[in-house]
Amino acid sequence: MPRWSDPAPCDDDERLFECPDCGKRLCTDLSTVSCDRCGVEMQNLSVPRPQ
Ligand SMILES: [Zn+2]
Repeated sequence: MPRWSDPAPCDDDERLFECPDCGKRLCTDLSTVSCDRCGVEMQNLSVPRPQ
């Protein structure tokens, strides 16, 4: 059984999002994504703060 050193490895074209509530991580190429458990907007961790 493989073990993942990175819980959410992403390809270059994808972005890593994390739920601020439960910490769930997801890789997607969508601009925004909501946590399927909490229903809140997940934060994009793959880019520096836009401001
Ligand atoms: Zn969540």
